[in-house]
Amino acid sequence: MDTSVAIIGSGPSGLMLGQLLHRAGIDAVVIDNKSPEHIMSRIRAGVLETVTVELLDEAGVGDRLHAKGLVHEGINLAFGGKLHRIDFEGLTGRHVVVYGQTEVTRDLMDARTASGGASVYEAEDVRIEGFDADRPTVRYRKDGTEHRLRCDFIAGCDGFHGVCRQSLPVQAYQTVERVYPFGWIGLLSDTPPVADELIYVNHERGFALCSMRSNTRSRYYLQCTLAERVEEWTDERFWTELKLRLDPQIAQRLVTGSSIEKSIAPLRSFVVEPMRFGRLFLAGDAAHIVPPTGAKGLNLAASDIRYLSRALIRFYRTGDSDGLGGYSERCLRRVWLAERFSWWMTSILHRFPDAGEFGARIQRAELEYLVRSRAAATALAESYVGLPIED
Ligand SMILES: Cc1cc2nc3c(=O)[nH]c(=O)nc-3n(C[C@H](O)[C@H](O)[C@H](O)COP(=O)(O)OP(=O)(O)OC[C@H]3O[C@@H](n4cnc5c(N)ncnc54)[C@H](O)[C@@H]3O)c2cc1C
Repeated sequence: MDTSVAIIGSGPSGLMLGQLLHRAGIDAVVIDNKSPEHIMSRIRAGVLETVTVELLDEAGVGDRLHAKGLVHEGINLAFGGKLHRIDFEGLTGRHVVVYGQTEVTRDLMDARTASGGASVYEAEDVRIEGFDADRPTVRYRKDGTEHRLRCDFIAGCDGFHGVCRQSLPVQAYQTVERVYPFGWIGLLSDTPPVADELIYVNHERGFALCSMRSNTRSRYYLQCTLAERVEEWTDERFWTELKLRLDPQIAQRLVTGSSIEKSIAPLRSFVVEPMRFGRLFLAGDAAHIVPPTGAKGLNLAASDIRYLSRALIRFYRTGDSDGLGGYSERCLRRVWLAERFSWWMTSILHRFPDAGEFGARIQRAELEYLVRSRAAATALAESYVGLPIED
């Protein structure tokens, strides 16, 4: 089996790329080591920037998103016993759309099935080779049989723990990383959200986030230590702790219920440089991780894929490889802006064990400045809704 582009990973990055290439008449195979059901069950991001929405429209999968997605024109910051709204629409004329990553994945998988695109799920022992030469190859085992797929390019869309980055010689790249001394425990429940818009809470007991996936499905997060395990967090303990971190009038409105998913994620900032190695292109979480505080992970994956799909389409249509040559540099400029924003949002909203009294006062001053200064609020809003993308 041969193809033009072998896409490793069937998360949002790989599926978006597959769909955009398919619509441009470029042949691709998507290979994932997990089953579609497993991939669909991963509860992750849920806030989409306009760039992401437009890319999903371009991929032909925007209908459900426009019908079911919730337009959010602002967010709330809770600190010092008060709620402060950051009005995205008023400050930037733009908004975000709340639509779960699982729904994005479902729409893309359905579209791939309908278009007859080749996908291999539950591939074992996926290996990539020859990407520094003219004809890269992907090898994998499926149902006990060895397969070899030759291709022109490999797209490494296989997430943070994937095989593509790990196949590079160590001298070919550098990584820049910050690991935060805490994580988030997230709880998903079929309960109405406590508010119409997201609430980011800075509280002495730790950060909390009231988020949602729809008008009937809520997603709440609490800052927790890295030593904690999800089994230690009964639903009751989670709801009690959340109420303690919310202002009393909001806590009173909170509708609790059984969790349908609960998980702990560590917080990390991570970038690989460069993102291109010969005929291998890394995209999405395979190349960079942001702490979820700025809601940028999925959106950065989408902007990588926008650049990569355009570069590949240009190459196949005209033979011009300039877009491929500039891929890494262009992506990394945007990646670092999102890294900065995600780090900054994390730093102003969480309790840091070693920050001390000075750190706490500076954090409070940052938040006060944000809600008093239109310029400061605009800076937050323009990064949150998504910085303009270079063409
Ligand atoms: C717990 C969690 C919570 C998150 N919450 C948020 C949030 O609130 N907001 C936000 O913006 N972002 C969030 N993110 C980040 C966001 O989900 C990711 O940025 C997004 O999933 C990136 O998409 P991707 O396709 O690049 O990678 P992934 O979604 O990780 O997809 C990678 C795919 O590659 C496959 N794969 C891995 N290894 C191999 C292999 N060896 N061979 C073949 N296939 C392989 C995997 O099975 C997977 O399907 C969260 C991430 C996590 C982990």
